[in-house]
Amino acid sequence: MTKNDCIFCKIANGQIPAAALYEDDDFCVILDAGPASRGHALILPKEHFDDLCELDEDIAKKVLPLAARIGKAMKKGLGCAGFNLVQNNGEAAGQTVRHFHVHVIPRYEGGPQIAAWEPGTVSAEEMGNIVEAVKAQL
Ligand code: 5GP
Ligand code: ZN
Repeated sequence: MTKNDCIFCKIANGQIPAAALYEDDDFCVILDAGPASRGHALILPKEHFDDLCELDEDIAKKVLPLAARIGKAMKKGLGCAGFNLVQNNGEAAGQTVRHFHVHVIPRYEGGPQIAAWEPGTVSAEEMGNIVEAVKAQL
C-alpha cells in the first residue's frame, strides 16, 4: 500500500523523478537530495511503512542484504573507505520523512566529518534499571 501524501511513496513508485541507483519489485534506492557525503543514498521500500516498528517482516529481511550490496558498490564505484547505515525512527530521532528508509552514507578518507555522539557515562545501577525496563516490554 502507498500513501497519497507521502513524497517517498511517490518517488519509490516513479511518480516523482529521482536519481535512482537501483530498483526491484520491493525497493527503490535513490540519491539523497541533501547529501552528508558524495553518494549518500536512501533505500526506500515501494510500500509505505511509517517507520521500522511498522515495517513488514519480509521486507525487513531484505533490507540489510540490499544495504550491503549498495555499500559494496559504493566502495568499488566511488572509492569510499567505508559507509554508515543510519535509520531514524520518530521526530525525536531526526526522522523528517515518515516513510521507512535507510541512509547509506559513504565515508571517505579525509572527510567530510559527520557528527557522532559524545560518549556519556552510566552507572552499573542505572544499566540494571535500563535492562529491566526494556526487557519487561519485549
Ligand atoms: P530522515 O531525516 O527522515 O531520516 O531523512 C530524510 C532524508 O530525505 C534527508 O536526508 C533529506 O535530505 C532527504 N529528502 C527529503 N526529501 C527528499 C526528496 O524529495 N528527494 C530526495 N532525493 N531526498 C529527499
Ligand atoms: Zn510512503
